[in-house]
Amino acid sequence: VSADEDCLFCRILAGEVPAEVVAQDEHTLAFRDIAPQAPTHVLVIPRRHITNAGHVSADDAEVVAAMLVAAQRVAELEGIAAEERGFRLVMNVGADALNSVPHLHLHVLGGRSMSWPPG
Ligand code: AMP
Repeated sequence: VSADEDCLFCRILAGEVPAEVVAQDEHTLAFRDIAPQAPTHVLVIPRRHITNAGHVSADDAEVVAAMLVAAQRVAELEGIAAEERGFRLVMNVGADALNSVPHLHLHVLGGRSMSWPPG
């Protein structure tokens, strides 16, 4: 567990910044995005501070797998599981992707039909 004072999502993990938590487990926390882009917009973050998907190493394999399992759990809780409505998973990496929070997070988006490319 990181205690990075300058990282917003580490502060959410520490309970210092409020968030609407949807699910959590040993490796992850899932909470609602503050500016939702879809009826369901949940962020799944690792408890371990990893900057973004461009900084994942083989040592993070268990944590990254746990993020995908957590996303499935969120989708089930939100009624948008794969065999129901389905959902979109997004990870933004760096400037061109408009990655704004430098703590790895998986966007779980659903509850509406998605366009491509995203608007
Ligand atoms: P990204 O642009 O991929 O780095 O995503 C960062 C996301 O974090 C954006 O969708 C923001 O709306 C969201 N966000 C920023 N601050 C908060 C917060 N305090 N609680 C929940 N979501 C947040």
